[in-house]
Amino acid sequence: MEKKQNYSRKREAILNAIKSTSIHPTAEWVYQTLKPAYPDLSLGTVYRNLAQFKNDGVIVSVGTVNGQERFDGNTEPHTHFICSSCGAVIDIPGEFVPAAVKDAIAKEYCVAVDSTDVQFHGLCSECLKRQTPLE
Ligand SMILES: [Zn+2]
Ligand SMILES: [Zn+2]
Repeated sequence: MEKKQNYSRKREAILNAIKSTSIHPTAEWVYQTLKPAYPDLSLGTVYRNLAQFKNDGVIVSVGTVNGQERFDGNTEPHTHFICSSCGAVIDIPGEFVPAAVKDAIAKEYCVAVDSTDVQFHGLCSECLKRQTPLE
């Protein structure tokens, strides 16, 4: 029983860590952030819980950026700008595929479209600033 309580406390902490940031963290980030408060936390526990949250739909996966999966506590429909240099993931609100386009795809390919996934890629404003201007 005591063990179970401890388990759900960690589970809650992992979810809160993801929900309280907009940096779209990695599992490693969650682990490093919570480790001081939960010394017996393992990276495996973080991964297991993240997979469970993803299945339950309380968090979403942004996909792999620079080799590491990134997670999002914001489950509202939105899209992302991903910096190809530093890996920053920035929320862009809005619908980028109009219903008319989804309908047209559904008709043309005889499929039912549930969702679409648009991502913007390029350099974030910080990386643009770091670039040496062309003389
Ligand atoms: Zn950047
Ligand atoms: Zn997001």
